[in-house]
Amino acid sequence: MSVSRTWSVVLSGLTGDLVEVEADLSNQIPGFSIIGLADKAVAEAQKRVQNACANSELALPRRHVTVNLSPANLPKRGTGLDVAVAIAAVATELALDAASLARTVHIGELGLDGRLRPVPGVLPAVVAAARAGFTQVVVPWANAAEAALVSEMHVCGAISLRDVARLHGLDVPCIDEAPVEAATSPQQEADAPELAEVIGQQDAVDALLVAAAGRHHVMMSGPPGAGKTMLARRLPGILPDLDDAAALHVAAVRSLAGMPVTALPRTPPFEAPHHTASAAALVGGGSRSAVPGAIARASGGVLFLDEAGEFGGHALNALRQPLERGVIEIHRAGFQATFPTRFQLLLATNPCPCGNYGVRGGACTCPSLAIRRYLGKLSGPLIDRVDMELHLPRVAVTAAADTDVVTTAAARDRVAAARDRAQRRLHGTGWATNSEATGEWLRSGPCAPGPAVRRPLDEALRRGALTIRGYDRVLRVAWSVADLAERDALTPADIGRALYLKRGVAE
Ligand SMILES: [Zn+2]
Repeated sequence: MSVSRTWSVVLSGLTGDLVEVEADLSNQIPGFSIIGLADKAVAEAQKRVQNACANSELALPRRHVTVNLSPANLPKRGTGLDVAVAIAAVATELALDAASLARTVHIGELGLDGRLRPVPGVLPAVVAAARAGFTQVVVPWANAAEAALVSEMHVCGAISLRDVARLHGLDVPCIDEAPVEAATSPQQEADAPELAEVIGQQDAVDALLVAAAGRHHVMMSGPPGAGKTMLARRLPGILPDLDDAAALHVAAVRSLAGMPVTALPRTPPFEAPHHTASAAALVGGGSRSAVPGAIARASGGVLFLDEAGEFGGHALNALRQPLERGVIEIHRAGFQATFPTRFQLLLATNPCPCGNYGVRGGACTCPSLAIRRYLGKLSGPLIDRVDMELHLPRVAVTAAADTDVVTTAAARDRVAAARDRAQRRLHGTGWATNSEATGEWLRSGPCAPGPAVRRPLDEALRRGALTIRGYDRVLRVAWSVADLAERDALTPADIGRALYLKRGVAE
C-alpha cells in the first residue's frame, strides 16, 4: 500500500470535526512532512511519530512520508491527531488492513516510547465520531472508560502503537507494557451533602426549595458562621437529576477541562470559584484547545460566589455575557470557542467587611463609608439578575431543635413535583422554569392573578416601594411558592411569601 487513509477528530470547544488523515510515500530524500493547516503541536507530531514508531519496532519506510490532513481549511490543533498520523504512516509500508483503518477514528497523543497518552476532550470527540456515523474508535487506555460513555460505540483502549497496529491486522507480538495513567485519578462522585444537616435555619431551607423550584438566582447575606456556604452546597442535591443529554454535556465540559470522566454525572454541577480566582479560571483559556473555566463548568448546575462583594471587576465583566445571553466565549489567538452557561447563580455576602453589621449582639467596627462601599460593589448587573434575597441570622447553638427537618430526598421530590407543575403551566411558552417568564406574561398572560390577589403589589408599586422589575420578580417567586404548595392559582399568601423573600423591596 502506498497511500493509506484513516480518521481523527479536532475539537473547537465542544464541537468536533472529523479529519481525514492520508499518508503517502514519495522517492524524495527520506523525511516526514505534515500538510493541511496544522498548528505547532501537530507539526511536532512528526518527531513524536518517528520516535514512537522506531521504539515500537514499527519502522517507517526509508523514503519521504507526506501526511495530509483534510479538510484543508479546518485548523488542526493539539496532539490528539498523533495516533492517526502514526498509524497512517506505518500503513504505507506494513501490511495493515486498509478497510479497518478507513472505518476507525483514532484519538490520542503519542509518547516517544510508543505508548498512547491521554488527551482532554475525548468524550466530545467520540460523540462527534458517532454523529458522523463511525462505530469504532481507538483511544488511549486511560480514556477508554470515558469514550465508552457514548453508547453503541466500539471502543478500543490502546496501551501502545503496537496495540493499534495489531487491531488493524498487523502480526506483531504482544509485549506486556504498563499503560500511561491519567494525570489525575478519577474522583468518586461524592453524594450531595444532606439538607437535614442544616440546623436552625428552617426559613432559609424553605427559601432554598423555592429557589430550586423556580430556578431563581439568589443572594444570601448574613454574618460568618450563619451557614451560607453549607446551604449553598446543598442546592445541587435538591435539584432534579440531569437527564442523559444534560449529563453528557456536563461530562463533555469536564473532559475538555482535563478532569477525569468515568461515569455520567447525575447531580447538577456545583462550582464555587474563590474571589481571588483569575479571569482565566472563571472564563477559561488554553493555548492549544479551549479549556472551559468555572462559569462554563457550572452550566446545568449552580455557580456559587461566596463573598460576592470581594470579586473584582474582571469577574463581574466575565459574568455579564453568560447571564445575559446564556453563553460564554473563549477568545484565544487562532481560535474561539463558545460554551453554554445555563447556571443558577447563588451569591453570598457578609453584611459588612467585618461581618457584624446589624447582627444582634455583634459589634461592628466598620466605618459607615466602608459598609456603603462594601455593599455598593454588589449593585449592578449581578444583583439585577437576583430574584430572591435571603437574610440569614447567626444561629445560636441552643436553637438546634428543629421540629420538622427536611431531608435532601424529600426536598428533591417536592422540587421535582413543583417543576412539573410549572412546566404544565408554561407549556407552549418555550420556558421551562418560573425564572424565565417575562414580566408581561406574568402580569397579563393567561395565568395572571386577579386584582384582589395582586392588591398588595399594586399598592407597593403605587407607593414607590416596588419598581416594575421588582413587581415582576415577586410574581415569579410567588409562582414557585404556589408550585411547591401544589396550587394552580396564586393566592395572597403566595404573594406575601414572595414579598418576604424579596426583602429590600424598595429598589
Ligand atoms: Zn462591620
